[in-house]
Amino acid sequence: MLPEEGSLWLLRLLRDIQLAQFYRPILEDLNVTRPEHFDFVRPEDLDGIGMGRPAQRRLTEALKRHRSGFRSRNWVYKILGGFASDQKETTPPLDSPPYPWEPEGGLKCLIPEGAVCRGELLGSGCFGVVHRGLWTLPSGQSVPVAIKSLRVGPAGPVGTEQGDFLREVSVMMNLEHPHVLRLHGLVLGQPLQMVMELAPLGSLHARLTAAAPTPPLPVALLCLFLRQLAGAMAYMGARGLVHRDLATRNLLLATPRTIKVADFGLVRPLRGARGRYVMGGPRPIPYAWCAPESLRHGAFSSASDVWMFGVTLWEMFSQGQEPWAGVPPYLILQRLEKDRARLPRPSLCSRALYALALRCWAPHPADRPGFSYLEGLLQEAWPPESRCMRDVAEPGALRMEPGDPITIIDGSPDSTTWKGQNGRTLKVGSFPASAVTLVDLGGSSATHSVHRDSPARGERLRGSLDGDRAKAKLQGLPPERGQRRTAPLQRTKGISKSLESVLSLGPRVTGGGSSPPELRHTRAVPQGPPTLPPHPPFVSSSSSQPSQLPRERPPWPKRESPHSHPIGKAGASKATVSPGGSLSDSELQRKILEVELCVHGVTYQECQAALRATGGDVVSAIQNLKVDQLFHLSSRSRADCRHILEHYQWDLSAASRYVLARP
Ligand code: ATP
Repeated sequence: MLPEEGSLWLLRLLRDIQLAQFYRPILEDLNVTRPEHFDFVRPEDLDGIGMGRPAQRRLTEALKRHRSGFRSRNWVYKILGGFASDQKETTPPLDSPPYPWEPEGGLKCLIPEGAVCRGELLGSGCFGVVHRGLWTLPSGQSVPVAIKSLRVGPAGPVGTEQGDFLREVSVMMNLEHPHVLRLHGLVLGQPLQMVMELAPLGSLHARLTAAAPTPPLPVALLCLFLRQLAGAMAYMGARGLVHRDLATRNLLLATPRTIKVADFGLVRPLRGARGRYVMGGPRPIPYAWCAPESLRHGAFSSASDVWMFGVTLWEMFSQGQEPWAGVPPYLILQRLEKDRARLPRPSLCSRALYALALRCWAPHPADRPGFSYLEGLLQEAWPPESRCMRDVAEPGALRMEPGDPITIIDGSPDSTTWKGQNGRTLKVGSFPASAVTLVDLGGSSATHSVHRDSPARGERLRGSLDGDRAKAKLQGLPPERGQRRTAPLQRTKGISKSLESVLSLGPRVTGGGSSPPELRHTRAVPQGPPTLPPHPPFVSSSSSQPSQLPRERPPWPKRESPHSHPIGKAGASKATVSPGGSLSDSELQRKILEVELCVHGVTYQECQAALRATGGDVVSAIQNLKVDQLFHLSSRSRADCRHILEHYQWDLSAASRYVLARP
C-alpha cells in the first residue's frame, strides 16, 4: 500500500505496532481519517473489525504517544519534512498584524483538492486566473486564501505557461518574508492551483488609481510602503534572486498599511561573479520600468531591480500614472541614455525622496544604492510630521485647522511657505510655515525640531540635490509639460510599451492597449528554457529526454480519458481478475479507493483507468499515476520522474518538492 498524506499517519502508527492489517478496515469501515476520530471509536467497533483486546490496548497506547508528539510534528511537517524551516525569515513584520493563525513549520505543501474551494474571481494574468477562496486546514479551521489556477485551454495548458506557473511556484515556495506574498501550497489537480496568502485589498496600482470618492493615500503611508518594499527586495537580493517586474501592479495590499511583493513569474536567479541574469533573446519585459542595461543588453541584476524600485516610487507619488506615457518604447532607451532624461518629480514627492529616486536611476548599475542601503536612505528622506497650530483659510493656501496632522513635503527653515499634506483632508498644498509645529516621532511637539531640510541634513543630501538640479536641466521638458506627458492611464490606453520585446528597439507601431492590467495579458511570450541544475545522482543518464533541454509537453490528459501510459512494473498485489470486467464491482471499488487515497490529486476515473491499464495491479497503478503527476509538474521525462520517485520511496510530496525546487 502506498497511502498519501491523508492517511499516512494511520498506516505508520499501525505499522509501528504491527497492526498494519487493520489499516483498510479502520479507514473504510470505521471512517477514521484523523487521530481525533478515534475519540468516537468504541471497543465494540474495534471488535467488529476483528481486532482483539490486546491489540486494542496497543493501539490506545500508540495513539496517546502519537497525540503527545502531534503538536510539534503535525501532518505538514510530515509532508514537508522540515522543508520550509531553514527558509524562515525571523525579521518581525514591520507594520503588519500577526497572522490570525500561525501554522508550524510553514505550509508549503501539497494541498488536497477537496480542502480548497474557490469563490469570486479576483483577476487574471497571462497564465492563470486568481480566485478568492477558502482553505480548510486539517484542524477544520478555514483560512481565506487566493487560488491561482493555471489557465487550461481545450488541449490543456501550454507547456511554457505551465513552466512559468511552476517556476513561480518554485520561487515562492522558498520565500518567507512579511512583505513577500506567501505561498501556502500547491493543489495537484487539474488545473494546477497555487494556494496563496490572500491580499484582500487588491493591487496597490488599483488603489492608487481608484476614482473619487476613494481618498488618495497619505504621503507618509507611501513612504511606509517604500520601506516595506525595500526590505522585501533586500531579502530577495540576499537570496540571489532578481524580480524583474517591480511595479505597483505587482504590489498587493494585505492590509491598509501592508504591502506584499507578488508576481514572481519573471524572477530569475542571479548568476556569475557580476550577479546578473542575461536574457537569451527577445522576451517581453516591462519596458518603461526597466534600467538601460536591461533594455540594451537584456541584463538584470539587483541594481536593475533598484532602478525599478525608483520607477515604482515614481508611480506611487504620481498616483499610479504610467511612466514614460506617450513616449514610444524604442525612444525610452534613447531618452534615458542619450538625453539623460529622467521621470519628472511628481508633485507629491519631496525633493529628498526624488533625490533618492535619482540615485536609483544612476546610469551605471554600480552607482545605484543597494536595497539594504536604500532602507537607510528612506529613513533619512522620510517626510517630517507637523501639527497645525491655527486656522489657515487664506485663499490659495492649504486649508487646515488646529490639531490637523500635516506631513511636510517641502519646507526649509529659510522659507516662509511650506508644502504639505493635511492628514485629515489628504489635500496637498502650500501654507505658512508659521502655522505648524514639527512633531517628533513620539508625537510630541517640538517647535525647534530639526526638520528635513535643516542644514545638517542639507549637507548630507547636497550631492543628490545638486545631481537633482543637473538632471532636472537634462530632462528636456519643463515639469508642467512633463506632467502632461505622464497623463492618467485611462488617457494612454492604446499605447503599448510596458511589456515590450527587449532587443527589438527599432521604431514600431504600438497598437495594443497597455494600461498595466491589460498589458499583463500580453506577457504570453515564452520565457525560454530554464537552465537546470545538474541532475541528482540518482537520475538515470539513460533518460530519454535530458532535463536540460526544453521538451514538448504532451497535451494535458483529460480527466475522463482512459489511462494509457506505460504499464509499470508488476507489483505485489497483482490483479486476480482481468481488467476486462470479471473483477467484482466491490473489489474494483475497493481498489479504486485505495489508489485514490494513495495518489494526491487524482480522480476516480483516472484511478479506474490506471487499474485497467495495469490489469488491476494496485501498486503499479499507484506508481504510474504518481509518475504522471510528477511528470506534469516538472520538465523532466517520465523515466526521470520514475527514478526520482523511486529515490524518494514513492513519496510524491517529497519528489514534488525536489522537482519544484529544481525547475
Ligand atoms: P501575470 O501573471 O501575467 O504577470 P498578473 O500579476 O496580473 O499577471 P496574476 O498574478 O495572475 O496576474 O494576478 C491576477 C490578478 O489577481 C492581479 O491583478 C491581482 O490583483 C489579483 N491577485 C493575484 N494574487 C492575489 C492575491 N494573493 N490576493 C489578492 N489578489 C490577487
